[in-house]
Amino acid sequence: MASLKSVKGTYDLLPKEKATHRHVYETSRDVCERFGFNEVTTPIFEFSEVFSRTLGETSDVVTKEMFSMETKGGDKITLRPEGTAGVCRAFISNGLQQETPVKHFYYGPMFRYERPQKGRQRQFHQVGVELIGVETPQADIEVIAAGYQFLKELGFADDVCLELNSLGDSESRAAYRDKLVAYFSQFEDKLSEDSKNRLQTNPLRILDSKDEGDKELVKDAPVLTDCLNEASLTFYTEVKKGLDLLGVPYVENPRLVRGLDYYCHTAFEFTTTTLGAQGTVLAGGRYDNLIKMMGGPQVPGVGWASGVERLALMSAEDKAELPRPICIIPVSAAQQEEALKVAHQLRVNGFVVDQGYSGNMKKRLNRANKANALAAILLGEDELARGAVTVRDLESGEQSEVALDGLVDHLAKFKA
Ligand code: ATP
Ligand code: MG
Repeated sequence: MASLKSVKGTYDLLPKEKATHRHVYETSRDVCERFGFNEVTTPIFEFSEVFSRTLGETSDVVTKEMFSMETKGGDKITLRPEGTAGVCRAFISNGLQQETPVKHFYYGPMFRYERPQKGRQRQFHQVGVELIGVETPQADIEVIAAGYQFLKELGFADDVCLELNSLGDSESRAAYRDKLVAYFSQFEDKLSEDSKNRLQTNPLRILDSKDEGDKELVKDAPVLTDCLNEASLTFYTEVKKGLDLLGVPYVENPRLVRGLDYYCHTAFEFTTTTLGAQGTVLAGGRYDNLIKMMGGPQVPGVGWASGVERLALMSAEDKAELPRPICIIPVSAAQQEEALKVAHQLRVNGFVVDQGYSGNMKKRLNRANKANALAAILLGEDELARGAVTVRDLESGEQSEVALDGLVDHLAKFKA
């Protein structure tokens, strides 16, 4: 039955994979909190306009990738393809302009109708930060440093490369747009269909094309850096100076543009060669006009988002272990009730406890080993009569008889 499969591009996170996934999330939250970002959660769906009006009418995300639907009440809604638009909507809805600078961290599922591949799903997860209300390069530096520190604490400092560019202010981009149109117009018949359209609507987007033919042409295209006006150049220089100061390594990539339209000035991506085609693991930039564009006040922002699945793919599996239990094993059915009580008492006292539900002692010991248990507590008739149990340390094999009323203290070394 087709309906018993998960829908194309979605998948289940079973406990082991979930532990790796959670390790990525918890590392990001821990690092971001140290940088002053606190977690917020916004809804998984928003009015479609929140995305369609902000991400760019011609962006891939809006033209091809949105999961949109109409509610029974006739509202047009979209499952969020990214986090920034929702966080900015929340900034406006909650009147947070009184509280700037606002520093938000988020984690959650995102949805894009894309062709599923390794590291590319239709439901995936992002962690991200948004620093709203600071117009100086200090904010860009701090945001990028947080992203770098996050990847570093995951152990990826040597596996990733920070690519940096400046998209300049709108004056600089307008000048660049003219140059780009002039350049690509010479090769119009060689461009992919998508890029032919982009030439009219949004030529910058061609630089981000994944079409091999387009990529060839992009190699010799003029670069934005040559079109930056003085203010934009100064801003960019300050960002680079700050990164140098903090020892955050980067390479400049003058052809880096981002897939969404709301960016200006700083644009950056952390990429890796270890994941094949899906090489971008963390990306972001500055969005000074996004909140205004959404109908809010003129408040600048800068942030990034990172794909949790891609980072989980890069992580060694043994990085994140499942909790290791203590297993309670009644020697025969007569001790089952006592086993239930002991298990409960230990759980109430903060221990991770598993109990086999059936089977003889040998079977239950095997299961304990399979669960990577730290210890087994054997409940035999004779010991119980003395008010005691047998504790077997499954690492060392050592075994001793322990009085039930001293059990919690005796097991302290097995506490997580
Ligand atoms: P790509 O160029 O790989 O499509 P993107 O530019 O569309 O990425 P962003 O919108 O910048 O991606 O999202 C930030 C991060 O989220 C990406 O760098 C990536 O790690 C992750 N990501 C984006 N789309 C997907 C997806 N469909 N499946 C898994 N992770 C994704
Ligand atoms: Mg994409």
